[in-house]
Amino acid sequence: MIREPLIMVCTCEMAGRVRGKGFPASELPGRLAGGVGWIPTNGMISALGPIADSPFGAKGELLLIPDQTTETRVDFGDEAAAEHFILGDIRQLDGTPWPCCPREFLRGALAALEDMTGLRIFAAFEHEFIYDGVLDRPGAPYSLDSWRRQGVFGEVLTAALRQAGIRPDSFMPEYGARQFEITCAPAIGLQAADQAVILREITRASALHLGHEASFTPIAAPAGIGNGVHIHFSLRDRQDRPATHDAALPFGLSAVAAQFAAGVLHHLPALLALTAPSPVSYIRLRPNRFAPTTVYLAEADRETSLRVCPPPPLPGTDMAGQFNLEFRAADASASPYLALGALVRAGVDGIRRRLPLPSAGTAPPLPASLDEALTALEGNEAARDWMAEVFLDAYLRHKRAEIRMTETMDEAERCALYAQVY
Ligand code: GLU
Ligand code: MG
Repeated sequence: MIREPLIMVCTCEMAGRVRGKGFPASELPGRLAGGVGWIPTNGMISALGPIADSPFGAKGELLLIPDQTTETRVDFGDEAAAEHFILGDIRQLDGTPWPCCPREFLRGALAALEDMTGLRIFAAFEHEFIYDGVLDRPGAPYSLDSWRRQGVFGEVLTAALRQAGIRPDSFMPEYGARQFEITCAPAIGLQAADQAVILREITRASALHLGHEASFTPIAAPAGIGNGVHIHFSLRDRQDRPATHDAALPFGLSAVAAQFAAGVLHHLPALLALTAPSPVSYIRLRPNRFAPTTVYLAEADRETSLRVCPPPPLPGTDMAGQFNLEFRAADASASPYLALGALVRAGVDGIRRRLPLPSAGTAPPLPASLDEALTALEGNEAARDWMAEVFLDAYLRHKRAEIRMTETMDEAERCALYAQVY
């Protein structure tokens, strides 16, 4: 068969799905300037398919402009087409950013952090997912048996990530049924979120090339174990020097990192609407499954939303460089741009207001539903500065429509549906 290579330019929008348009790969140089046509209501396509109640209707014209730094080409060495895509920004026809572009939302948050403090965020997204190419057997968690039974998947994934320019760190069988975890090296700012988008797609592609599926759904069965996305992050100055650790201060956090963490905890109920943004996200956020349930910071507690992660104090460890915080209350129904952007915005607000860490013993529960989190976002004064009014309105409409689409389903039906979506 005679074939001509194609490439797809994509965005990861409010639904956390990666969507875009393709064209002959040979035309990429021209498309770097002109992009492909996009319309505002594309952003209102819900995770489940139907278009949410859109403030834009059928009107408007936008461009999705590829960013060359994100071009991803992975050849799996089989007959199937290579995975070839590039991520992009949504712009208005005059070239200015569209106020609802998720990548631009993150850019704005990163600029706010850097303008106020001279600091940048250094982050890695740790992903859990279900791989259906392995049997669910009793006693499987963390077992060498599960690791063996996944066959070549882990190695195919590792090679694919490396081709995509992502440095794999670890791959392991996790605690849940057929659950695995993949982690990669951290990157600065926008690149960390780009890599999270790429990693999810490459994981799905690797499974598919082996005739299987990988699902990042927040939780696949109501009584099961959730798939978390844990965002590890630290602060670095413009010279790339670490700025998160101070051994003399509580939790070993520098003053600026403690204020950042305090901002995240302060805004957590609203933040959750952007980091855990599906109706099933809140089935994951329940006790006894190592998922966060409280607005709390601790060093070695996996039910907190924010965990301090000091490296093991071994001789020769780069303590300051490896010291990081782990935000545990995110999942893969969130666009990485929105999740990281919201986290940074909340942290910046904590720094601006010099917020103290909450006193020990106070650990209010997280919102119990997406509806509660959306109400917290809508009522959060600071969030009005984080998102353009049109974006906040579109986001609330989008997510409330998704709640309506699933409200007649029971939890098991909802989980089964989302396992196919993510
Ligand atoms: N699966 C857990 C979650 O939903 C996390 C388990 C772990 O600590 O790695 O976040
Ligand atoms: Mg894990």
